[in-house]
Amino acid sequence: MTVKIGITNQKGGVAKTTNTINIAGALADRGLDVLAVDADPQGYLTHRLGFEDAYLAEEDSFYEAFKDPSSYDVHDLVVQHAEFDLLPSNIDMFHLEQDLIAAGMKPRLRLQMLFEDVDEWDAIVVDAPPSLGPINDNVVLATGQLLVPVEADASSQLAVNHLLRQLDTLEDNYGTRIDILGLIVSNVDYPLDNEQRDAIEWFESRFGEHIPVHVIRRRVAIKRAVDAGQSLFGDGVDDCDMRDVYATIAAEVADA
Ligand code: ADP
Ligand code: MG
Repeated sequence: MTVKIGITNQKGGVAKTTNTINIAGALADRGLDVLAVDADPQGYLTHRLGFEDAYLAEEDSFYEAFKDPSSYDVHDLVVQHAEFDLLPSNIDMFHLEQDLIAAGMKPRLRLQMLFEDVDEWDAIVVDAPPSLGPINDNVVLATGQLLVPVEADASSQLAVNHLLRQLDTLEDNYGTRIDILGLIVSNVDYPLDNEQRDAIEWFESRFGEHIPVHVIRRRVAIKRAVDAGQSLFGDGVDDCDMRDVYATIAAEVADA
């Protein structure tokens, strides 16, 4: 069984990509074979991990596979990172949303079709784009299990409400179940101001009873590792107290 997890929030800059790298790294550190998937047309995950060439590829790209999943084998599109495998984004994915809508035929189920018979990885972790458009819907429907990075502020509360509404619509339209496995309040600096404290209290009261709400603090070591294309679990990376939080998240989702 392959565990599939989407890292999603339509807001930009809430640490989706940072959390994708570190959760993929933490799962790999547990001994799992992990595939990280860059479903953001901006390709930040692909760039950070050092695969610009794959991002610029003109054929046999994630873009082509997204449009025509039955003709592609995921394994042929994957590149190897030191800690896990990566399905890189592709610059043509900027057109994907329009192309999927124009194609008409199940435009929101393409990623699910692409991953249907893929069972070689223990875990697939998908970095979603900062929008509630068709690519994000594809990520949600292909994984069915989400980790939601948020910031400790009022705009993240609003974003989560919009996301929940979108998930309800997808559940109704596709007769499928979508689970939020956890919230990750990211890039948090202590001491908290009032807005941050209110936001974290709201996340805990809204979700905390059934869904873990994790806090990842702002750490130079996290930024430095990501800038060097590594997770906190990579070789030679500076020690960081947030490793334990990512290890806990990985333990929670490994058997989801
Ligand atoms: P998103 O993918 O949601 O747009 P990113 O993962 O790119 O967000 O993060 C936005 C910025 O915040 C990046 O510059 C990243 O390095 C930084 N960042 C995210 N989380 C942390 C953290 N815990 N500590 C320090 N910097 C962080
Ligand atoms: Mg990103």
